[in-house]
Amino acid sequence: MKKEMLPIVALVGRPNVGKSSLFNRLLKRKIAITSDISGTTRDRNYQAMEWNHKHFLVADTGGLLPGEKEKVVGFIRQQVLKTAEEAELILLIVDAQTGPTDLDLAVARELKRYRHKLLLVANKADNESLQSECYRFLQLGLGESFPVSATHGIGAADLLDVIAEKMPQMSEVVPVPIIRIALLGRPNSGKSTLVNALTGQENAMTDDRPGTTRDSVDTILDFNGKRFCLIDTAGLRKAAKTKEDIEFYSILRTEQSLERCDIAAVLVDMEKGVEEQDVNVMQMAIRRGKGLFVVLNKWDTVEKDSHTFDKLVKELDYQAAFLAHYPKIAVSALTKLRATRVLDMACQIHDHLFHRFDQNELENFLTDTALRHPHPMVFGKTVSFYSILQRENPPPFFDITTSHPKDIRENYERYLENKFYEHFNCLGCPIRFRYMRKKKRGMRPLNLIAEKE
Ligand code: GDP
Ligand code: GDP
Repeated sequence: MKKEMLPIVALVGRPNVGKSSLFNRLLKRKIAITSDISGTTRDRNYQAMEWNHKHFLVADTGGLLPGEKEKVVGFIRQQVLKTAEEAELILLIVDAQTGPTDLDLAVARELKRYRHKLLLVANKADNESLQSECYRFLQLGLGESFPVSATHGIGAADLLDVIAEKMPQMSEVVPVPIIRIALLGRPNSGKSTLVNALTGQENAMTDDRPGTTRDSVDTILDFNGKRFCLIDTAGLRKAAKTKEDIEFYSILRTEQSLERCDIAAVLVDMEKGVEEQDVNVMQMAIRRGKGLFVVLNKWDTVEKDSHTFDKLVKELDYQAAFLAHYPKIAVSALTKLRATRVLDMACQIHDHLFHRFDQNELENFLTDTALRHPHPMVFGKTVSFYSILQRENPPPFFDITTSHPKDIRENYERYLENKFYEHFNCLGCPIRFRYMRKKKRGMRPLNLIAEKE
């Protein structure tokens, strides 16, 4: 099974050596957030790429803000070892301008056992004299280093040649897609606990002192033959001191996570209940065309009987009607009760998001639905529907041609949507209809053809 997954090339190293810059350079675009706003940090990013007909994932293991030295070393060690285990190739990045440092030596020591799959890369070798200084890294005991400059692009293509050379051939197998889940929710709703429950590892650096927070990290996880990427939006940074700051950064982080995910899992702390902020985040996800489901977490703390869940869901759908189309699951990240349902659910929604709907089935749906409950007349004229065509996904987008595209009533749009979810059972997946005027003459309305029959 493993071999069907894309091999991972991991960029590791101490902060500031240019991992993120190199990641962007290799992928030729700006993905990692290299923001100047102090207090924002980057996420751990995984991106798929192709080079010399080889497919692989490049992982940027993210940066850390300077903190207590032991803690940082400890965390790097943990990050590096975890990444090293799962990677096909480790790129240990060092800084050609500073030369080897104590931290480099510490990381190198840890990585010695992975020498067989390790490549030492000296970044910031912006000119020949810096390149010639690279011999200094021999003292790391990992052999010669490969000089590059992420900023100037020097050596990037050569480095990619070497990487591709070391990647396994995956000619016959179709790479398995990664299902990207953004774990959203207010602080303390249990996001990192859930990540830990699913991976069985301590991935996040937790620090309970007020004012300090964790970096947010992506976690790659294989489950039931599928590969998932958990985007954990964990922390706000020290810079966020005021309430406004905190809100600003949390919206920023949410936007950034949504940008990169397929599906948003919004965690709700059941000790506190659903708040307006939670609903806002859910709406943000839908507006961006992302899959969505609600995770009612800390279910272990809820006093319940066999009706509690259904009652809660009903209340929720009443509070925010749009939620009727989005699944809810009750879990306990702490006790791991139903934790893996999060992955199953994401998997199901992922299928819906990328589903190509059968054309006949779509037409049957529109015919039946429009016949059962016709649109009210507009200026004394019947509203006819001629065709429905799936355009693109994700999320599924449909063009509906009609005699009165500008006059379709909002509640009728909602009716069609509701019926669509019922008919196609695609909960969790936002769908979009666009109403258009028919282009071809002589098209017969769907809602009349059936009437005659
Ligand atoms: P990371 O913490 O290892 O991910 O490092 P970043 O990618 O955030 O880079 C840290 C700093 O090094 C930034 O100011 C970059 O602009 C700078 N940097 C990265 N690559 C190069 C390079 O090739 N040459 C030079 N001169 N600076 C670089
Ligand atoms: P995050 O800020 O969303 O990442 O939240 P954390 O994962 O750090 O969790 C916040 C607190 O809630 C911690 O004390 C957790 O132990 C606790 N917690 C998380 N999930 C559960 C759960 O399912 N049940 C209970 N009782 N506590 C939980």
